[in-house]
Amino acid sequence: MEAFGKDSFERLVSCATALLGTSTRPLIIPGEAILGIEATARNVSAPGRTFLNVVTGPYGKLFGEWLRMGGAAVTDLCTGYDEVITGRAVEEALEEGEFQALSFVQTEAITGGKNPAEEILKTAKRHRLITILDSVSAIGADPVFMDRFEIDFLAAGMQKALGGPNGVSFLGVSERGLQFVRSNPGAVRNSVLSLLDLSERETEGPPENLPTLEARAALDTCVRIEEETLAGVCKRHAKTARAMRGGVKALGLSLWQREETGCTNLNTTVRRPQGFLPDCLRAQSLVTEGNGSLAKSLLRINHYGEQTGLACVRQAVWTLAEGIGLEKGAARVKEAVLAAEEAFFQEP
Ligand SMILES: *Cc1c(COP(=O)(O)O)cnc(C)c1O
Repeated sequence: MEAFGKDSFERLVSCATALLGTSTRPLIIPGEAILGIEATARNVSAPGRTFLNVVTGPYGKLFGEWLRMGGAAVTDLCTGYDEVITGRAVEEALEEGEFQALSFVQTEAITGGKNPAEEILKTAKRHRLITILDSVSAIGADPVFMDRFEIDFLAAGMQKALGGPNGVSFLGVSERGLQFVRSNPGAVRNSVLSLLDLSERETEGPPENLPTLEARAALDTCVRIEEETLAGVCKRHAKTARAMRGGVKALGLSLWQREETGCTNLNTTVRRPQGFLPDCLRAQSLVTEGNGSLAKSLLRINHYGEQTGLACVRQAVWTLAEGIGLEKGAARVKEAVLAAEEAFFQEP
């Protein structure tokens, strides 16, 4: 098998640079996005350092736990999993405590919640904080721009909205972010979790442990995205999500997120109605139960990656209708499909 050489690696780096919206060379993480996220926690955390960590879903909670493992003092700023944080709540928390850094998950696929990234980051900037974002589920669905938003650590992957492989991922690190790691005596070395090891050998070619097949698939995905453009991918998800929300509401169901402004364009989460018939979820993967403890509370419609567009939305409406005991031909179901179509073609 042909190796993944230096030229291919450089093409992957330049693709990642464009996707993250930065002029700083990002790190290519030789593994799933979660590896880059745990590596970030391990390398920035140290006794004496203080973090405000926003928790609006399971990934945010996990990140706080990883920060604590490194000895840092971490304050979790939590919401219920059916709502996102507000810029104001972040501002108040920052006024109350002394923090060096702020971390949050932009989009939590598990809850369907989208935190107001730009607003939160403006607040963080006023307080001169190091900022850490998990945008794995956001990229391609809810816009994120590393340089424009002045993000210091930005984790992204290709397996959600970008419809690519999950075996390599990206971590944007600003010069200031790298300095924050360098100045940490506890930063990891000689480890797959070492950001310094990765950043120091980055121009020599691919990391030794880069999964070759995944890297090739990532490059194929880059070519596809260059054709469609990242803005095009975002627009496709926005239209699909808008249509889906319209269809869900017209069916008489409730969105899981309390505020529609808190809904991501990646997927749609729906409050699971009493007596929902789970048989309709078999033999398809578009509509699923919630993850873990949320299984009986919400339904997830995974309209992302290759799975976007009106055909998906119609299919999801029919699946949900079946779950609430309605036939495809029922008046309310037809109305829901029409509402979805109308929302799809509406300009935002
Ligand atoms: C999917 C996801 C991850 C994990 O990505 P993997 O590549 O599957 O490890 C991390 N954070 C968020 C918010 C995600 O949605």
